[in-house]
Amino acid sequence: MAQSVKGMRDLFGAELRWFQHIEETARRVFGRHGYGEIRTPILEELDVFKRSVGESSDIVNKEMYQFTDKGGREVVMRPENTAGVVRAAIQHKLLINADPVLLYYIGPQFRYERMQTGRYRQFYQIGAESFGVATPESEAESLLMLHSFLTELGLKHLVFSINSVGTPESRPAFHAAIRAFFAQRADQFCEDCHRRLQSNPLRVLDCKNVKCQQALEGHPILTDHLDEASARHHARLKALLTDLGIPFTEDPRLVRGLDYYTRTAFEVLSSDLGAQSALLGGGRYDGLVKQLGGPDVPAFGWAIGLDRLAMVLQQVRGEAPRQAPALLVPLGERAATEALKLARSLWEAGVALQLETRGGALKKALASANRLGIQTVLILGDGELETGTVAVKHMATGEQETWPLAEVTARLANS
Ligand code: AMP
Repeated sequence: MAQSVKGMRDLFGAELRWFQHIEETARRVFGRHGYGEIRTPILEELDVFKRSVGESSDIVNKEMYQFTDKGGREVVMRPENTAGVVRAAIQHKLLINADPVLLYYIGPQFRYERMQTGRYRQFYQIGAESFGVATPESEAESLLMLHSFLTELGLKHLVFSINSVGTPESRPAFHAAIRAFFAQRADQFCEDCHRRLQSNPLRVLDCKNVKCQQALEGHPILTDHLDEASARHHARLKALLTDLGIPFTEDPRLVRGLDYYTRTAFEVLSSDLGAQSALLGGGRYDGLVKQLGGPDVPAFGWAIGLDRLAMVLQQVRGEAPRQAPALLVPLGERAATEALKLARSLWEAGVALQLETRGGALKKALASANRLGIQTVLILGDGELETGTVAVKHMATGEQETWPLAEVTARLANS
């Protein structure tokens, strides 16, 4: 029997219902903040990621689905969506005047990762990007939107973990400090860290290796090495979050895996997650648009993993909210015709209803209703047709009652 490719799964049933609920909530909340949707292709040229995510990142180094297409182009199945959104915004000249550009995306991403729980090779992200504004206020706006999104989904124990990674200008001072620190205990760090120290020393701070984490004890602190403007920016963002009542902690080791962040980097942790890694992350990336060949436009954004979010919500809230359909069961041919007419008027009135079209015995229909978790079954037989009524069976209690046909729409709409 054919199976789905390792790390790629089919979405359906309860899990997909959470995906849909999350996506609907995202569109509602982001739309309220003035963000518009953008959809970029899954395939991008290799260069888009090399020049943005960075050649020192694990994503570009180890995890990309990369191949040469029939026309000899080096292409990649996008491992993340920010680079594609930036590429598109430049290509379509969305950033040429001074207006802020607020965009969000929802879609699949691909990374050839080692398999572990909650990690997939095709996974889904929702992200929001705000272009054209460099202020801490724009970050607070974006984080507030994120906070509303997660709160409206029903997550309660959220903590924003923040740090500032400074600017490319202020970073050499920190690089020097971390290199000096590293040199004193180089033998305690893993091979990857030795490589990172050369390519992107900040990344040593977020090595997942426990020994490296221990060796980092007493490491130089990024926020002690900020230029004055970055320090002011960081202080202002913290003041805004405090004023807005958004709980946050400062994490001096938070640098995020991608090379393009400047100033604010953040993650959101949920204690509903237990020991698992962060629910999402993001930050400011002021240099990226220019780096990819566009104008010098600042930007701030984040991406959340839908797969993990759906898993957490399933754990915290159980089944995704849904409009439970009723089932309409006609008995006999005349009733089957009338049932189609009744169902049509109910559907047109917006009522969720499944129609039994197999014919046959009521017992079979009731057994299916049970398996499908349907609560209300409407039965239309000759007797009901004569009296202009419908028999209604409530599956949970087994009770049965009679509704006049004229009241069915209103009663179902309220159930
Ligand atoms: P990143 O783009 O690495 O900053 O990841 C942002 C979020 O995407 C993470 O916090 C995860 O929730 C999610 N994510 C990243 N990689 C995977 C994966 N392989 N499978 C499932 N979710 C992922």
